[in-house]
Amino acid sequence: MFTLSQFPLPYASDALAPYISSDTIFYHHGKHVGTYIKNLNDLIAGTAYADMPLVDIIKTSINRDPKVFNNAAQVYNHDFFFHCLRPAKEEMQMPAELAAAFGGADALKEQFRTAALSVFGSGWTWIVRDGDAYKIITTANADTPIAHGLTPVFTLDVWEHAYYLDYQNRRADFIDAVLDNLVNWEFVAENMKK
Ligand code: MN
Repeated sequence: MFTLSQFPLPYASDALAPYISSDTIFYHHGKHVGTYIKNLNDLIAGTAYADMPLVDIIKTSINRDPKVFNNAAQVYNHDFFFHCLRPAKEEMQMPAELAAAFGGADALKEQFRTAALSVFGSGWTWIVRDGDAYKIITTANADTPIAHGLTPVFTLDVWEHAYYLDYQNRRADFIDAVLDNLVNWEFVAENMKK
């Protein structure tokens, strides 16, 4: 049995404003993630998935039980996503090793922005580690790098529910606001060591 309190926000619900409003956090974390958790619990009750850790559910259900996979992956992806953010007032720098892998901080942001804008419909944009290489990839709907042997380093949720209350159709403004103000580069640096 999973609960929303197992996946707490690492900051107050208004801590990301004005770039991400407390209204967006209320619906995104409280309602959307809450629904994924409820759906997952309903689907796994009484099955072999019921006693598995979340990551094992994801790796076992892919290509086998799409409803279980979708809800489990969305719980994982959102917990990771919310930890990728931090209040804008906390000073942090992009890890130099990561910037260097993409030809500099500005080039990384530009490549990430282009990828995030390329997602058609609902999905995610990621920086992942693939062996010794860092890559920017996108995934559709609930799909997640951990199901494909890749180590997630950073992600941005580009489902419309992530930004529509604050930015409506202006996904590019949401991407820029997050990359310029809200990335928890210390969390990213921790992920690079995994
Ligand atoms: Mn979302």
